[in-house]
Order: sequence, then structure tokens, then C-alpha cells
Amino acid sequence: MAKLISIIIPIYNEEGNIYLLKKRLFDILEKLNENFELVFVNDGSKDKSFEILKELSKETEKIKIINLSRNFGHQIAVSAGIENCNGDCAVIIDADLQDPPELIIELYEKWKEGYDVVYAQREKRKGENFFKLATASIFYRVLKQFTNIDIPVDTGDFRLIDRKVINALNTMPERQRFIRGMISWIGYKQIGVKFVREKRHSGETKYPLKKMLKFALTGITSFSFLPLQFATYLGFIVSGFSFIIVLFVLYLKFFTNKTIQGWSSLAIIILFMGGIQLICTGIIGEYLGRIGEEVKHRPLYLIDEKVNFKDKEEKNIKS
Ligand code: UDP
Ligand code: MG
Repeated sequence: MAKLISIIIPIYNEEGNIYLLKKRLFDILEKLNENFELVFVNDGSKDKSFEILKELSKETEKIKIINLSRNFGHQIAVSAGIENCNGDCAVIIDADLQDPPELIIELYEKWKEGYDVVYAQREKRKGENFFKLATASIFYRVLKQFTNIDIPVDTGDFRLIDRKVINALNTMPERQRFIRGMISWIGYKQIGVKFVREKRHSGETKYPLKKMLKFALTGITSFSFLPLQFATYLGFIVSGFSFIIVLFVLYLKFFTNKTIQGWSSLAIIILFMGGIQLICTGIIGEYLGRIGEEVKHRPLYLIDEKVNFKDKEEKNIKS
């Protein structure tokens, strides 16, 4: 019996990409001899994206839309797609054609071989500047050092996941979402497929430096306590070091008649300790703030409208 493949596409101001994306996806998916649905999650776009999607959704019921009540961010948009899709498997793909739809064939074949997660690993990235390449590369490697689950390097969210993994993700209510890490945490049979990441077809990246940093921090704080332990280690090192200095100062005081004078040394010590203490407090604050977010238990996202979904009523469904 034919299976259903869901394609999950987060959309934030992607008006220039939707037509071509839809065409390329249909071309590929029609070759597979399976059923498919495209689940577009409109993440509060301010351009014509939603209008274009509505037009397309009139042509075929295979095109489904979840219109979120505002911009919730990429990871939450993807989560909304995962939660609402009906597929036996789902492919998460960016709308800007950086992830080539044609690779879905390879992902699908691995799934047929019995893998539950087939992630697409970037061998090369085109059209991104040196800064983005360098920071991304450093980030993936730092994350690997920091966490004890095995998150593959140079791998974004472009991947195929089996229904088992979809169901598992749907039981994970965390607000701080780092989906690629969550999927590694889930386990099952995982495998990577290499690909060349294209440059963005149209529009600009929705991940400026500030958002990238925030995302990186989410990844690290969600999967590692190492920064907190770092504060402890630093405390021990600094205490050990100061103990030596104390001995040295006492030695000078009681056994020689040279004492170090002036406030320079004092000022250095106070500023140094002040800096370290603030950094450590900041690390604790970072975790604390995130705990605060979690315990509020707000819904992850709100849906304004669902198009072409047969389940429930289609307006104002709170998931
Ligand atoms: N995106 C989203 N909400 C956001 C930011 C991005 O749904 O707040 C979508 C965006 O439309 C795209 C995908 O997430 O389909 C990846 O974003 P982008 O291509 O800007 O990221 P980059 O490839 O530069 O890392
Ligand atoms: Mg992109």
C-alpha cells in the first residue's frame, strides 16, 4: 500500500521562492509512487507568502497550510508542522531551495532500507560568506564537545524522519527547541547522506547574527550542563591560584621587609574577580531564564487557520 510522505516547510517571508519550490517538490514527489502532502507552516510572514500559498492550496488538497498567529521562529514553525502532519514519514526542508528537493529521493531510499532518521549532511555550502561558514563550523564542533549525545556536525534540520520519531517528538513539550539535537536524543536507526548546500534562491537569510547566537545558546543549554560546571572549575582554579598568592603575600610580610605597595595590585584583583563572578552569574542566569520559560507552560504556538486539513475545525485551533 502506498505510504504518505509529509513535507514540512517553514515559511517566513519567502514569496520569491514558493512557486519554484512547489514545482520542484511536485516533480520529485510524483516520481516516487507514494502519496504525499506539503505542509506549509506560515510563520507570521509579512509579505505575500500566505496569499500565494492560499492560491496554490486551491489547486490541490495536497497543499496544506498552517497559518500561525505570529512569527514564532523557525524551530517552532517546524514543530507545528511535525505535530500536524499525517505522514508515515516526514521530510523537513527549508523554503529557500538551499536544501535541494531532489535529495528527497535519496532520503526516501534510505528510509525504505529501514532507517528511521536520514539526515542530510552538508559537504559544501555555496553562496554563504566566510563569517557564516566559520561561525557555523565552529558552532557544530563546540556543540559536539559540549554535549554527550551524538549530534552530527554540519547538519541542519533537512532530514527525513519516520512516524516513530514524529510521535516521539510530539511527546517532547520543551519550549527551548533545538530540533536536530532532540532527534539525536531520540535515537533509533539514524544515517547521514551528504549533499552540497546551494545558495539561497531569493530573499535574505532570516538568521542574522543575533538569532544565530541565541539559537547556538539554546543548543548548548538544552543539551549540556558544561557551562555550569565550567563555573565550578573556574572557581576551584581561581581559589587555588589565590591561595598561592596569599602565601606569597604572607611570606613577604613576615619574612622580608618588602611589601607590594599601591592600589594597582588591589584594583587588578578586584576587577578580575568581579569579571569572573559576573560571567558565572550570567551563565546561571542563562539557565535560569530558560527554566522560567519552560515552567510557564504556555502553548508552543497558536494557529490562526488551517487550510486543507480534514481533521477538527480549521479555524483557531489551539494545538
Ligand atoms: N524561518 C521561519 N521563521 C523564522 C525564520 C526562518 O519559518 O523566524 C524559515 C525560513 O522561511 C526558511 C527556514 O526557516 O524556510 C530557514 O531560514 P533561513 O534560510 O533564513 O536560514 P539559513 O539558511 O540562512 O540558516
Ligand atoms: Mg536558508
